[in-house]
Amino acid sequence: MKEITHLTNLPTPCYYYNIELLQKTLEKVKAEVAKYPLFHVHYAVKANANPVLLKLISASGLGADCVSGNEVGRAVECGFAPDQIVYAGVGKNDEEIRVALNADIFCFNSESLPEIRVIDEIAAACGKKARIALRVNPNVDAHTHHYITTGIEENKFGIYLYDLEHVIEESRMLPNVELIGLHFHIGSQITDMGVFRSLCLKVNEIQQKLKRKGIVFPHINFGGGLGIDYNHPYGEPIADFENYFATFAKFFEAEPYQQVHFELGRSIIAHCGDMISKVLYVKEGRNKKFVILDAGMNDLLRPALYQAFHKIENISSDKPEEKYDVVGPICESADCFGKDVSLKGTARGDLIVIHSAGAYGEAMASQYNLRDLPATFFSVPQH
Ligand SMILES: *Cc1c(COP(=O)(O)O)cnc(C)c1O
Repeated sequence: MKEITHLTNLPTPCYYYNIELLQKTLEKVKAEVAKYPLFHVHYAVKANANPVLLKLISASGLGADCVSGNEVGRAVECGFAPDQIVYAGVGKNDEEIRVALNADIFCFNSESLPEIRVIDEIAAACGKKARIALRVNPNVDAHTHHYITTGIEENKFGIYLYDLEHVIEESRMLPNVELIGLHFHIGSQITDMGVFRSLCLKVNEIQQKLKRKGIVFPHINFGGGLGIDYNHPYGEPIADFENYFATFAKFFEAEPYQQVHFELGRSIIAHCGDMISKVLYVKEGRNKKFVILDAGMNDLLRPALYQAFHKIENISSDKPEEKYDVVGPICESADCFGKDVSLKGTARGDLIVIHSAGAYGEAMASQYNLRDLPATFFSVPQH
């Protein structure tokens, strides 16, 4: 059981972040990436854009991967160097493009020729030259939940391989854009290194094909997607960065001096945050017991949206374990955090921890039902 005395007075539902674990995780990422001088990591802001966390992450020296103009603004405010910011998204609006150009970010990851043409026009009007990496859909299956699979041809993402050379030719004629790289992001919560190996082999093939036409880019960006072990929040809570970077170092055939970029979100922040909630009621059905929490799908959407698993624990009880369906108070059948969950005998007022909720938790919280947004707390005092 976790050290909980400090949790009992928190208003619930809330997110509680373990700053020590975040710092340890960042140190591990930095140590592993430092083994490869041409590798660079950009933290995917969409996983968690809490300013307290962003400031710690930027202070560690990582770059940022943004998916909206507001994220670019937030990243700059929180200390990320503009020349380490990349900006992706299947549809950026004109104002967002302007914001990113005026911030002098390192690179746009762009997914269509129509968007590249608009970036060119806006760059001309701003008197800038936009650096662009083409997001390519490499048609590699991430073997993860279909809602978080992005690299196969049935998805909306990326430029399709058959179209790539055409897009390169057309983009090269635009005076205010400079093509500097290729970008690939095939999905999230990938724990099988074989998937990243397949991605490397595919990218090698694409590079060789382009090289025969005399096209070599200085930057290759492999996106994010490294998964974590949601089953074991206490075991080894730091993701397998060592194996992850080693896989790319081993299987990706980089051109001389080619810079290699990664955009890690979940693997950096997921285990560093828990959702703390209180039991409102225990309701007994004919052959089921429901634990009704004060947290709902508006506070933590992942179980409802992706059928995601989070380990759930009653940290107030010493009674023998029983099985419960753990649900929220919202009038939606999807408002359920887990079915047949083994919890210590549970009663009104008990504190329930939903583990590993640091990524895509707070960031996806909404005010559905006009509920308040969840509060946030940190394991050390903030200065
Ligand atoms: C979501 C996303 C990421 C981060 O993915 P994680 O699985 O959280 O590491 C990186 N790059 C792009 C383009 C994304 O859309």
